Amino acid sequence: MMAMNGAQPSSASPQHGLTDRLARWARGFSGKSEESVVEDEDEQRPRNGTAAHREINRRKQLYSDIGDFLFAHDLDLTPINFSVALDYLTGANIGVEKAIKAVMMERGKITNSWIETIAAEQRADEVTPESLASMLDKVEENLTQFTGLMHESRNSAKDYGAALQEQAKDLGEGRDNEPVLARLVGLTRSMVEKTRQVESQLRENQKQTQALKSSLENARRAAEHDHLTGLPNRRAFEGVLREEMAQAQEGGETLSVAFCDIDHFKHINDTHGHDTGDRVLKFVAGLLAKASNDRCHVARHGGEEFVMLFRGKTAAEACEVVDGVREDLANRSLVNRTNGERMDRVSFSAGVANVLAYDDPRGALKAADRALYLAKEHGRNRVYLAAETD
Ligand code: GH3
Ligand code: MG
Ligand code: MG
Repeated sequence: MMAMNGAQPSSASPQHGLTDRLARWARGFSGKSEESVVEDEDEQRPRNGTAAHREINRRKQLYSDIGDFLFAHDLDLTPINFSVALDYLTGANIGVEKAIKAVMMERGKITNSWIETIAAEQRADEVTPESLASMLDKVEENLTQFTGLMHESRNSAKDYGAALQEQAKDLGEGRDNEPVLARLVGLTRSMVEKTRQVESQLRENQKQTQALKSSLENARRAAEHDHLTGLPNRRAFEGVLREEMAQAQEGGETLSVAFCDIDHFKHINDTHGHDTGDRVLKFVAGLLAKASNDRCHVARHGGEEFVMLFRGKTAAEACEVVDGVREDLANRSLVNRTNGERMDRVSFSAGVANVLAYDDPRGALKAADRALYLAKEHGRNRVYLAAETD
């Protein structure tokens, strides 16, 4: 085992101007309408004396930041824009924050219509057992309707064929074929009309199926995200880990996994209450999420445990990144905004393992967990690297 405690803090991600200010805000505020959040005391101390003052200044600053944000992006003063700006500035919704950052990197500006799309996606993400049941009912209804339409179409084609045959019998040389031909034309017309009706019903059915498909896709996405932190959940992570492990084995790339667990979290809950505990969870999730990119996947594994997967990094390199986040968190002075009380230092411990040194993803996770256990045993607030003989 090798302790990584004491490594250099990871360098902060490059942020500029307004984004930088907003990101600072996101660190210090994590509730939409809540009063009580954790904040970084060091950032507040120079400006204020008492907790009440800090609170007033924070609110003033928030109003001003929201105004700046809306103005900088030429956004209308609508409830949706306001709410998305608030979610972004307070870091209350990691999904919104990431989407906005991606657009700002790509185009520099956000538009009214883009915000409407994002807000609609957020609403669609709210999956309840009732909404799932209703979606499944609709799927069943659509399938029954589709089967019925197919059946009807087959039967009417069969009936049409039989009627044609029947009428054709009366056709013959030297006979008056006119009335028969008129009946045949009539039959064909009604068949064409019938086919049109079935086609239009099928089109409608297809449209509904498409809408259902996208609702179910949203439901699947929501089922893979943790509601509190906005991070992917354990179920999603396990899928990613399986895929990444197979790809890394095939492509010969390195892959490392880290298990992070907040230290003495029960004590935080017991001392400051469950709501503040939740905010601490969001805060830590936000710090870890900052390290995520297309080669680093961060998820909430459950409770106060998070996992990180590093593609293309050796376990030692991954250890350094995790240790940077650990140090960043441990150096902050957090304040419980409910009562302005300073919190004990919040920290986490972590264990890191080289995924490819194990037969399956579970083996790698277990090794990282064992390293985490040792990090706890040796005093917490440290990151340990799993020995590959583990
Ligand atoms: P250690 O340093 O050994 O990890 O100690 P710990 O107190 O962090 O670990 P323990 O497993 O004893 O306690 C974890 C606590 O996390 C218990 C549980 O109530 C709390 N917890 C789990 N999920 C949540 C959550 O979503 N919100 C809040 N507020 N607390 C949670
Ligand atoms: Mg735990
Ligand atoms: Mg813990």
